[in-house]
Amino acid sequence: MSTSKSVNRQILLVSRPQGPVTADNFKLVETPLAPLSEGQFRVRNHYLSLDPYMRGRMNDGKSYAAPQPLDAVMLGGTVGEVVESRHPRFAVGSKVVGSFGWQEYGTSDGAGVQQVTDPAVPLSAWLGAVGMPGVTAWYGLNHLIAPQKGQTVVVSAASGAVGSVVGQLAKRAGCRAVGIAGGAEKCRYVVDTLGFDACVDYKAGNLQHDLKAAAPDGIDGHFENVGGEVLDTVLGQMNAFGRIALCGMIAGYDGQPLPLRQPALILTQRLRVEGFIVSEHLELWPEAQALLARLVTQQQLHYRETIAQGLESAPEALIGLLKGKNFGKQLVKLI
Ligand code: NDP
Repeated sequence: MSTSKSVNRQILLVSRPQGPVTADNFKLVETPLAPLSEGQFRVRNHYLSLDPYMRGRMNDGKSYAAPQPLDAVMLGGTVGEVVESRHPRFAVGSKVVGSFGWQEYGTSDGAGVQQVTDPAVPLSAWLGAVGMPGVTAWYGLNHLIAPQKGQTVVVSAASGAVGSVVGQLAKRAGCRAVGIAGGAEKCRYVVDTLGFDACVDYKAGNLQHDLKAAAPDGIDGHFENVGGEVLDTVLGQMNAFGRIALCGMIAGYDGQPLPLRQPALILTQRLRVEGFIVSEHLELWPEAQALLARLVTQQQLHYRETIAQGLESAPEALIGLLKGKNFGKQLVKLI
């Protein structure tokens, strides 16, 4: 296997999925690494982040961001170490967070690359609890749901990268935190390790009844990551003037869009429902990341990771993520 500094291994998107993602949509290639120009540096990526938004970018439709181009390196967040530099501010040995995508090496002039300043935070956490998913949780909860002490906050995909942080921050705000997750094992983790008050297994077949038991006073704030039946059920149990942060609708990413069964509930319960994209609030990231980094280093914010080994495992790991096979933040270890 040639992974020396002269050759880069990369995964390209070569076709758009017609329905669920398949391994054939990707191609692994080896590309020679060009010498650095003045002002550039090279990063050996240690971890690649796999995220649900990648599925949307694989389509060619209208969305909040441009589609991933075909025959180009698949996009994605990465953390790694500078291994060669002709840049005054990025010394060899510095750890960096970037968007180098599905490849072992990235070359940059520094634009959009963040230096890791807090060595107490594990490198991989910059792609999870302290990175984009953590900031997503922080933003949606604090800026859209704005929970108050004693209120009930529900979050779907509760064991995942975003959901796990939402519930833990809701608990810190003095709320009753209720998770919804797929399977008994994920639910046990959400309560026993993350400290939620309750977690409902939507795969057990009694979602409406079980959610009512977990949130007996109704739901004041809901952080939606899934859509479909989960959102329909939560909507039916929202208290008047409740707030819903519409973060993701993963249940529909790999298939047909999901209809909303009873939109009239938004009116009759006078709900505020707001979608958001975390990358449109970059000015707030430093505040969020400072808090999340502190909580992680003080072991007051817990997270779990599923780590696939090697670049070639990325396609199957993304396919698994879209089916709920991951347990916590999905990463690919590249070194
Ligand atoms: P997770 O780590 O939560 O992984 C995805 C989880 O979603 C799975 O583990 C699974 O959990 C659940 N899931 C997967 N497929 C389905 C399905 N078909 N039906 C129901 N549930 C499913 O991912 P993230 O925390 O990274 O992301 C969570 C959500 O947040 C996503 O919808 C994502 O698009 C969104 N997001 C939005 C952002 C924004 O700016 N708006 C930014 C970042 C993320 P389970 O087994 O419990 O069902």
